[in-house]
Amino acid sequence: MNDIFALADDLGPLKVIHIHEPGIGLQGVLVVDNVARGPSVGGVRMAVDVTPEECARLARAMTFKNAAADLPHGGGKAVLVGDPKMPKAQKETLIRGFCCALREVEQYIFAPDMGTDEECMAWVKDEIGRVVGLPRDLGGIPLDEIGATGFGLSHAIDVALNFCKLDIKGTRFVMQGFGAVGKHAARFLCAAGAIAVAVSDSAGTIYNPDGLDVDSLIALKSTGKSVTEHDAGEKRDGDAIIDIECDIWIPAARPDVIHEGNVNRLNTKMVAQGANIPVTHAAEKILHQKGILNLPDFIVNAGGVICAATEYQGAGEAAAFLAIEEKLRRNTREMLETAQRKRILPREAALAMARRRVEQAMKHRRWHIF
Ligand code: NAD
Repeated sequence: MNDIFALADDLGPLKVIHIHEPGIGLQGVLVVDNVARGPSVGGVRMAVDVTPEECARLARAMTFKNAAADLPHGGGKAVLVGDPKMPKAQKETLIRGFCCALREVEQYIFAPDMGTDEECMAWVKDEIGRVVGLPRDLGGIPLDEIGATGFGLSHAIDVALNFCKLDIKGTRFVMQGFGAVGKHAARFLCAAGAIAVAVSDSAGTIYNPDGLDVDSLIALKSTGKSVTEHDAGEKRDGDAIIDIECDIWIPAARPDVIHEGNVNRLNTKMVAQGANIPVTHAAEKILHQKGILNLPDFIVNAGGVICAATEYQGAGEAAAFLAIEEKLRRNTREMLETAQRKRILPREAALAMARRRVEQAMKHRRWHIF
């Protein structure tokens, strides 16, 4: 009995539900972490090796991310065991079975994550209705297509530049990764007057100290080619992007790309974490010691989840952009002012801000975490 509470602390999780239906080979877990601020939002992850522990950690991360974004939502997460590339009919049966088994758990709103997409969310909508991340024709806001996360990231950077006494006009940035987050962040930054000196994708880096034309790079990517095939820059390997001198270095690809072994190669004034966990904790401390401003992931890449919450309220794209701009600017400013005043890492300031918001909501609850 004690073991099943090994994950429990003062914030959650409220519920850990195992779903098992041998008739269709369904095995999954839902963790509802803390719903003091409202029903939880968090994605459904499908992979062969997911575990209840991973699900609980991701649910807690959503509690903090949603509170830090100041959304009226708590944190939750669901995992489904299976290869996401399985035949579509089989995947549809599993997703439909999973959400039907969780039909009564109103404290959890389904959303897409690794291994699930808009179409999966359309099946959830058809079965139980409680879902975000829908296709556009079902009332969804296609957050990757409109660049919700990149848009938010560009606003967070704009606010943070004031703390480095820099202006966005003429600021030189480097973007590692040129997908849904990276290409849109680059587009919005350039529209505000910043200069892209290097970008990379999984094939390598393209570098031009005079500035790259981001629109033509996006057009090139849309034909299925790599940014390295662009002719207006110097081609380098993928790792070389770490050494390029700039004002803002933006990881927008993979986790743990900056660690103790390479953090000292960065030649920048700011790191803005578009990707999830792109910088290890040890490397974040080194950045802080070196006076490089580091903007943590769960604050500055929250544009996507804010967009999803706007969709849940039934509002459209214009409302989503307004909410992202307002929340990203306010939260980035609050985090950096606290970090400066208390001489702590921005991540520590952000976590304290998120925890405080969750605890404030808990005070008004008859119970605490729900
Ligand atoms: P994506 O698949 O659309 O794009 C990823 C990009 O990274 C591609 O251009 C790919 O070529 C490139 N890439 C892969 N390996 C690389 C490497 N080793 N070096 C350089 N580039 C590499 O993914 P995305 O949606 O843009 O997400 C990127 C990151 O941002 C992920 O960590 C994701 O979890 C995080 N994130 C995404 C969103 C969102 O709204 N999409 C929101 C928050 C966080």
